[in-house]
Amino acid sequence: MPTPPRVLFAAAEAQPLVKTGGLGDVCGSLPGALRRAGVDARLILPAYPAAIAGLPDLRTVAALRVAGHHGPVTIRLGRLGGVPVYLVDAPEAFDRPGGPYADFSGRDWADNARRFATFARAVVRVALGRADVAWRADVVHAHDWHTGLVPALLAREPRRPATVFTIHNLAYQGLFEQGALGELGLPRDLWSLDGLEFHGRLSFMKGGLAFADRVTAVSPTYAVEICTPQAGCGLDGLLRHRRERLAGILNGIDVDAWDPARDPALVRPFDARALEGKAENKRALQRALGLVEDARAPLLAFVGRLVEQKGVDLLLGSLPALLRSQAQVVVHGTGDARLADALRAAQAAAPGRVAAVVGYSEDLAHQVLAGADVCLMPSRFEPCGLVQLYALRYGAVPVVRRTGGLADTVVDPDDAGARRATGFSFREATPDGLLEAVSRALRARATSGWTDLVAEGMRQDHSWARSAREYSRLYGLALGRPAPRTVRAPRAPQAWSRSLRRQVALASA
Ligand code: ADP
Repeated sequence: MPTPPRVLFAAAEAQPLVKTGGLGDVCGSLPGALRRAGVDARLILPAYPAAIAGLPDLRTVAALRVAGHHGPVTIRLGRLGGVPVYLVDAPEAFDRPGGPYADFSGRDWADNARRFATFARAVVRVALGRADVAWRADVVHAHDWHTGLVPALLAREPRRPATVFTIHNLAYQGLFEQGALGELGLPRDLWSLDGLEFHGRLSFMKGGLAFADRVTAVSPTYAVEICTPQAGCGLDGLLRHRRERLAGILNGIDVDAWDPARDPALVRPFDARALEGKAENKRALQRALGLVEDARAPLLAFVGRLVEQKGVDLLLGSLPALLRSQAQVVVHGTGDARLADALRAAQAAAPGRVAAVVGYSEDLAHQVLAGADVCLMPSRFEPCGLVQLYALRYGAVPVVRRTGGLADTVVDPDDAGARRATGFSFREATPDGLLEAVSRALRARATSGWTDLVAEGMRQDHSWARSAREYSRLYGLALGRPAPRTVRAPRAPQAWSRSLRRQVALASA
């Protein structure tokens, strides 16, 4: 029997310890799924107060001095479910109230470059077996810009693990002033077009994209889209250049935490064969949120960050027309204050028909999807999206913009072919585009086929097992070819492979 690969999962958040969005869901679930698939996966996180509080059996495995960081850095080891978790305990960087990236008012921490450089250096030490002498990594799997320095720093090590870097959202790049390079004590030669420089600024994201042995995006369609100027956030040239090393692997969901048949947050459990329980959850939601208690009124819901990416403005633009039908609309999210104000104003203008719950509550997110008939995700772009997967499982038929992971997971009757439809999708990022798809959904709801559509979505298997197998395969590939590399983005698109060109043409059609 070959020994299982040792994989260190480096991330800035992991549910249930700390979560701001899908990154936290993925990093909370995937290491466990990998262990079930025979991988020796361990997680490493910053020691935020909530992470320390959530791991009661922590023990110290190393005390480090880390370049560019003045205070002590202690590596602690605990367990989360069956997954060993290292915490990088650097109190100056992580022991503070607020979120992982920003204070309570949403202002980014001014020292984020230093905080995540310290984290990256500690990850490198653990990966190389220079912190916990009992364990070293064969593969380091780093996630998003917060860990982008890890592949860059490891690429300089003569005997190093292979590196995989996953893009959860290319729009957040970790850009800092040029001076940060010296302040963080990073090697000068990293300041180049082939390295961390991005239009005169220091890019943590580029560390992952340029230096990792393998790069993944969280859905196959997003992996293609980010190679285009429309969705590449200025990094499409580099990504096209690394196309042979780039793959899209769809996220899964935690089917235990999101199970309508056993969800303690719901007033009554339900499943695809017993949908009466869903009707009761709808009634409870309407009552709790001050909506008219009407079983016939279609309840449309949005759960997620209130930001332009998610198309909240498209939803606001379509509200007057939606309210001319019988529909009720529930929005649950936090984010942009202007969007939150506009949603509160919409609620005030249509009491009993619109509910805007601005805030963050896991339980309410479950209750909203359990009660909703339709889940709206009019995202401008969506790397994978988890909310539509939870919605499918909770019998809230998704209406989505056809982009990224939404295009990969929701099957519209018009494009179904031999597959079974599970929702509705639209192309144009406009209120009219959204309205057209919603009206098709509402027409379908008035037919006898609706229950089958709901049940089909609920039966879909989006558990982590399949993705975990794909990542295991990828680790094998990364281990086979761990050549360190620096790259230069091509000037002209001739370097594209023919298959990529075809895929890009399809994606931007
Ligand atoms: P993103 O990562 O872009 O925010 P995803 O759809 O991938 O979007 O994941 C969002 C995750 O965050 C889901 O688990 C969703 O339920 C959760 N979430 C977002 N906003 C809220 C909120 N206000 N309250 C509770 N959970 C939320």
